[in-house]
Amino acid sequence: MDYEAVIGLETHVQLKTNSKIFCGCSTNFGVSPNSQTCPVCLGFPGVLPVLNKKVVELAVKLTLALNCRITPNCKFHRKNYFYPDLPKAYQISQYDEPLAIDGYLDVEAVKIGITRVHLEEDAGKLIHTQEGDSLVDYNRCGMPLIEIVTEPDLKTPHQAYEYLTDLKSILEYLEVSDCNMEEGSLRCDANVSIRPVGQVELGTKTEVKNMNSFKAVERALSYEIERQIKVVQQGGQINQETRLWDEKKEITIPMRSKEEAHDYRYFPEPDLVPLEVSQEWTEEIKTGIPELPQAKRQRFIEGYELPSYDAEVLTANKSLANFFENTTKFYPKPKMVSNWIMTEVLGYLAEANLDISQSKLTPTHLAEMLELIDSGTISGKIGKEVLPEIFKTGKSPAEIIQEKGLVQITDGDEIVKVIEQVITENPKAVEEYKTGKKETLGFLVGQVMKLTKGKANPQITNKLLQERL
Ligand SMILES: [Zn+2]
Repeated sequence: MDYEAVIGLETHVQLKTNSKIFCGCSTNFGVSPNSQTCPVCLGFPGVLPVLNKKVVELAVKLTLALNCRITPNCKFHRKNYFYPDLPKAYQISQYDEPLAIDGYLDVEAVKIGITRVHLEEDAGKLIHTQEGDSLVDYNRCGMPLIEIVTEPDLKTPHQAYEYLTDLKSILEYLEVSDCNMEEGSLRCDANVSIRPVGQVELGTKTEVKNMNSFKAVERALSYEIERQIKVVQQGGQINQETRLWDEKKEITIPMRSKEEAHDYRYFPEPDLVPLEVSQEWTEEIKTGIPELPQAKRQRFIEGYELPSYDAEVLTANKSLANFFENTTKFYPKPKMVSNWIMTEVLGYLAEANLDISQSKLTPTHLAEMLELIDSGTISGKIGKEVLPEIFKTGKSPAEIIQEKGLVQITDGDEIVKVIEQVITENPKAVEEYKTGKKETLGFLVGQVMKLTKGKANPQITNKLLQERL
């Protein structure tokens, strides 16, 4: 029997605000433990939460970008559970009336439904030391989160990966989150079940947690789907449970039986009034939504006549897209700019683990360098050597070329001298060329390049060498 998977994702995103969701504490990451706390986020008796307006603004911005319907009067609920990282023993979250519902995101031309987007506060963080102690840091308590829940519309682990990549790109374009997975600003849990192909009824699902990258989500889902199929094929039953992804062993392991909503004893938060997002404010927020990745991709294909692959790579990241557009303002050959960005620039950034906005390379630098290649001042090969220098020093290409003496040799007399040397030193290759083995020419040109450290103009070298032979 053939089986198909049904996948739904729950993504928690930390919103980029200066202060927490219900108090004025700072949201700085990496400061000393418990230094960013107050009676409100520590859950002291008698304190009152006050909703941060910026949190709502950023959340509304996102829900609009995800084509959601904003609930006119949404409510906050208390989700009750005990855990040492939760001093109040409840989390303020949203339950049956979330901020927004009924949205969608197009992922590779497939509409993935967004069931709901709701606001909530984060819990603190437990740190288990090697000495066997457990420490708690409440700085994260009360950090503003949104949870984005999809319909079970995803069919494959790869589609889940694509969904997350697109979602992250939208979050970055909107500047509502820094999406830093290492710092926990973006976390994803997956619900997955299997069923025989053609069956409408859903199978029992498991929830998989603890994936710290999108690739890990993809791998964990692949594993979990295979595991479930095996269990069913052997006549077993899937338990509704939460499982942890073990990145090292590449397996999922049972963590606890899946809790039901009623386990949390949800009840309306008595200290917060229902939240009403006015039509007027919604409209105002809407005007602040920039061109989103999909629209930009389309414009890059049509406006710059780029292949869709290029457009996709360039628009995946807003600062990269801006870098590309700004470079073409100074050097209006889009495909050439795209080629250099996609190979050399992205290669360097990946190696240095940097975003283009953090690097010293500017659009004027790249444009200037491409001009120098066009004018024959340097060869493309030298260009590839100049680029890392710009990244390192922030100096202009002209400066680097001057300092390093990289100007291309276009003077024929000078090149002829080197050609003579190459011919004397490689009699066998010359002989071969003369007896008709034309591909030997490439070798001889290569020798000239080697002696001039890549500075000889390749076209001139080629021509002169042929004449000489
Ligand atoms: Zn606080």
